[in-house]
Amino acid sequence: MVVGAISSRTELAIIGAGPGGYVAALRAADAGLEVTLIERDEPGGTCLNVGCVPSKTLIEVAIVRHRAITAGPTGLTATIDLDIDQLNRHVQGVTARLRTGVTQLLDAAGVTVIHGDASFARYDRLSIAAGDTVSHLEFDNAILATGSRPVQLPNIAFGPDVVTSTGALNLTRLPNYMAVIGGGYIGIELGTAWAKLGVDVTIIEAGSSILADLPAALRQPVERRLDKLGVTVCTSTTVESVADRVLTLSSGQQIKVDVTVVAVGRWPNSDQASIDTLDIELADSGHIVVDSQMRAATGIYAIGDLVAGPALAHKATAEAELAVAAILGHSTMALGVVPAVIFSDPEIISVGVGLDEAPGMGLGVHRFPHAASARAHSIDDATGSTYVVADESGTILGIHATGPHVSELAGEAALAIELAATVEDLSLTIHPHPTMSESLAEAAWLARGHPLHIRR
Ligand code: FAD
Repeated sequence: MVVGAISSRTELAIIGAGPGGYVAALRAADAGLEVTLIERDEPGGTCLNVGCVPSKTLIEVAIVRHRAITAGPTGLTATIDLDIDQLNRHVQGVTARLRTGVTQLLDAAGVTVIHGDASFARYDRLSIAAGDTVSHLEFDNAILATGSRPVQLPNIAFGPDVVTSTGALNLTRLPNYMAVIGGGYIGIELGTAWAKLGVDVTIIEAGSSILADLPAALRQPVERRLDKLGVTVCTSTTVESVADRVLTLSSGQQIKVDVTVVAVGRWPNSDQASIDTLDIELADSGHIVVDSQMRAATGIYAIGDLVAGPALAHKATAEAELAVAAILGHSTMALGVVPAVIFSDPEIISVGVGLDEAPGMGLGVHRFPHAASARAHSIDDATGSTYVVADESGTILGIHATGPHVSELAGEAALAIELAATVEDLSLTIHPHPTMSESLAEAAWLARGHPLHIRR
């Protein structure tokens, strides 16, 4: 490696161009700061390249196939063939389009983007390795947005047939049998998608249930749907070994697989880029400890998957706004409620105070079953319910739902909580018919003691 003498200076250095880092760069440049963004891979980070975007693209394709082949009762019959190379080109085409958009935005904002691997040489100085050269960058402030990576199980080595979520989003041939280790949201989303594309899927979960962070009321419709799809779910089970495409489970059972997807969580990249040489605090979980303005130390901020809280793209983006506001001296912002969405079948949203916490806090939980939703019936999927959590005065503190297309309700749910809306506000807001959003108003009417499409 040739160590170059190139050294430059910037007002704000940002490491990592995911939804945390690139948004911080755009916001800071917009406010007039001189910004340098360093990315070792592709702009857009995990979310755009190997996470949210390709997984939701795959899920949409899987939904189309599954709906087509199960549409017999509607009068439609179809035979569907899958060209996996074309599927991969389609998924990659979507991510490429969005990546181009991010690159153009950064360019238009005047952000200097450096392709390279950054690490701290000193408290106020980065070394950036790109190919054979190393350059140095001094900064006034830095934002660490280096994200996270898949956790590897000690007894299971990755290889051509044992892959992470990234590999599961780019399979080169359609497997007959797939095992997904981990029943968290990534494992459930990927397992469901491949099952709908015709793969025989087994999900192996060490805990006593899949989607264990969620209350039973929200996850049970998904458990039932997985069963209907023919997905085998083994809970309270671990994988002892994977050898010659055979998984040996803790139950003693052996299952034949073509591909094993390991989706057992993600670890923050705080042990890279010489971050550990800085005088900053790390939690046992590997997360960087920050204050309410995302400050880890004087002049050093950390955002996104690197810090505690749900590992979600929109949380990273919101923290980017906070960090930039703090750097600009506008320290009055606070992180709002972070909606969680799972693109399972049916979809799940969870926003604000949880269904399990509500009773202990003396809050009311009001449930509108989708069996009474015209839209749910028109989609031919009247599963699940929408729940509104409210206090005695009717102020809405939580909204949760499992059902078809409910991901699109999460924004309204977050807005209602942010604006401290009451069940009166929500029920009197005119919701278009027939949409799943009506279920929010219906649950709010129920909370007011005047249910509309369900009996008292
Ligand atoms: P990342 O997006 O991880 O970006 C970090 C960037 O830093 C990367 O590009 C990396 O290359 C770069 N980097 C790291 N170290 C260095 C270094 N030393 N020098 C230079 N560059 C470096 N979230 C949702 O909200 N909705 C979803 O539907 C969703 N689906 C997901 C599906 C999957 C399969 C996965 C894996 C994740 C999903 N997520 C989803 C989570 C989401 O992708 C992350 O929460 C989000 O990307 C975190 O953003 P970030 O900016 O903190 O980090």
